[in-house]
Amino acid sequence: MKKRALVHGRSNIPAQASSPIGKDFDPRGYRRGLGATNKYTRKFLNDPDAKRRMEDEGIGYSSTGLVAQIKEKNFAHTEEGVTIKLADSYGFCWGVERAVQMCYEARKQYPTKEIWITNEIIHNPTVNMRLSEMGVNFIQETDGVKNFNPVKSESVVILPAFGASIDEMKLLADIGVMIVDTTCPWVSRVWNSVDRHARKQFTSIIHGKFEHEETIATASFAKTYLVVKDIKEARWVCDYILNRGATKTEFMRKFKNAHSDGFDPVKDLDAVGVANQTTMLKGETEAIGKLFERTMMEKYGVQNLGKHYFVTNTICGATQERQDAIRKLIDEKPDIMIIVGGFNSSNTSHLQEISEVASIPSYWVDTADRIDTESNRISWKTSCGEMRETENWLPQDSLTVGITSGASTPDKVVENVLEAIFKSRAKMKVRCTINNL
Ligand code: SF4
Repeated sequence: MKKRALVHGRSNIPAQASSPIGKDFDPRGYRRGLGATNKYTRKFLNDPDAKRRMEDEGIGYSSTGLVAQIKEKNFAHTEEGVTIKLADSYGFCWGVERAVQMCYEARKQYPTKEIWITNEIIHNPTVNMRLSEMGVNFIQETDGVKNFNPVKSESVVILPAFGASIDEMKLLADIGVMIVDTTCPWVSRVWNSVDRHARKQFTSIIHGKFEHEETIATASFAKTYLVVKDIKEARWVCDYILNRGATKTEFMRKFKNAHSDGFDPVKDLDAVGVANQTTMLKGETEAIGKLFERTMMEKYGVQNLGKHYFVTNTICGATQERQDAIRKLIDEKPDIMIIVGGFNSSNTSHLQEISEVASIPSYWVDTADRIDTESNRISWKTSCGEMRETENWLPQDSLTVGITSGASTPDKVVENVLEAIFKSRAKMKVRCTINNL
């Protein structure tokens, strides 16, 4: 896999090449070792003051706003002829809430220190903007190269909820910064899982997007790995294992950016374990696991399965709950669906995908600004990443709108979207009245 280069000082370090991290390096042991130093913490203080500030600033759960009220009223609310149905599991997951709160706590603990984050703390523009306002700096990236030059040994560096690669951790430890690691424990669990594959000398099949930060980090904890983005790619690999198709050259071309250095499909697909990017479709990860299990049974016989296939459950509960909740909402047949969440949020894209597959008109927006209340127009994103504009998206008749939000979306953003919907409807009514005069 093409690893992200990291720049610090005069060196431009392509991970695992010129850095001392080589094949014998033990990433999990290294991270554990960091934990024993006074330059690293992953302690969540659960400071009530930080929690209160987050809510006051509209970052996180809202206990009194419209979303909280809708939740109280059995997840439904009617206004301006629009019935809103809220998914019974939506918004901030505990891993994201914990990571953002740890940023607030770090700011309070180190009031005079320069603070950096290796990436967006979570994939939500509102939250990241708020952190910028608090004086938290983001490491800049140009053409896939992260620039750590401005980071000094006195700095505090936060690792985001979806983690950071072991190369970045080592680089930061070498600079001597204070590392605040907010990596979600569910993500760490996946890292432990690929570490177990490595110890058994199994190849990790990672269900994920090879360019996603979380998958880059997970891959750095694996030894030999292959990233497959969906069941279609997994089928392709399984056909290859069963000698039913492609040549090695075709294999290497197809997975050009999605494997470990020196990966050889002829020998490295002999024994595999499956892990996942925690935000992928749960059903798809399970199907990929089953597919590899069947393939290994077919190739090596049921009695030898244990020597060729290894399974651990690394599907995040929060992702699963949000995906189950949108399916439940779809069963109630809303007229349209609104999905709220950052445009680079993987878990939100999957919520949009589930709704699109159910053939419900679905609009994925990251902020309320995507809704033009004057002209009844909406800009939205498809699950394939295409931006679209729809005129007259809200009908004049009464309608039911299903709404949910991704795991990195503060309730306040959903409330702003709801306000924009009601405002659009109110303006529509005024326009109708004027036209009828
Ligand atoms: S979606 Fe799951 S893995 Fe990701 S931060 Fe939330 S709880 Fe953690």
